Amino acid sequence: MKIGISVPFDYFTDAPQSKNALILHRKIGDFSCFLAKLHDCEVDFIELRGVIYNTSDDIINDICHRLWKDGFSLSIHTSLPEEVIDENSSLNFTFLKQIINQINNFQEKMILVVHSYAEKSYRYSGLLEKSACNINIIAETLEREKLPINFAVELNRGAIDDAPGTTYDGLLQLNNRINSEKVGFCWDFGHAYSNMLKNTIPLNPPQDFIKKVIHTHIHGVDKNDITHCPLDETNLPLVDYIEPLIKARYNGIYNLEINPEQLPEANALDIYVKNVNSIKKILK
Ligand SMILES: [Zn+2]
Repeated sequence: MKIGISVPFDYFTDAPQSKNALILHRKIGDFSCFLAKLHDCEVDFIELRGVIYNTSDDIINDICHRLWKDGFSLSIHTSLPEEVIDENSSLNFTFLKQIINQINNFQEKMILVVHSYAEKSYRYSGLLEKSACNINIIAETLEREKLPINFAVELNRGAIDDAPGTTYDGLLQLNNRINSEKVGFCWDFGHAYSNMLKNTIPLNPPQDFIKKVIHTHIHGVDKNDITHCPLDETNLPLVDYIEPLIKARYNGIYNLEINPEQLPEANALDIYVKNVNSIKKILK
């Protein structure tokens, strides 16, 4: 059972600075108790959130080693570079520079989660082309340099014609232009549910989509369409989403992605435990 939790990366530094890391620190305290609690409830994966492609490699290297030493495996939520990538360059995400040769010492491979492009200045077809172009260059580099990294393109929230990343079909169109073993989908259950409530996608994705899922993000959607909430019995069709993955022998991480702002002030740590147990119950 592979269960993970998303956490703002700088929460794991001695001086958190981002708004979300500070909120998490206020609500659950220091990261050492948090990590101990995660071990207690068999959470073995942590996703570092808020890493952009030029986040400092020194900081990410320190955090990764701190967490690896504590027995966790990692995934990283990052973003694609704004510009079209030079075809002959090696993988030049700054934050990867130091860890890239270390990953294999601690985990078989690392998932990097990205959104496909969604800038308003492009039309849908332009976004599809730009996303395919850059992800193809990255995938070719990963293959050529035999790097232990897979890219998961996330199902995003949004209107149907906003960007290819907002529908199952849009991501499949993107995949048809990429077709690499190094690239799959991150099925964000909360985004899927929010989009489904607006009738832009069906409850059940096509089988071709399920087959390409290599990562998940799990969070609830409240009545005002606020996403990344803790799970309750009503705010996510968790069984409907997990069962097809089990049937398809999905072997990736079930990753809880709660925004620290949506956690209650008191007993926030218990909410994590409760949510992890809800996921575990379905997986057993
Ligand atoms: Zn997500």
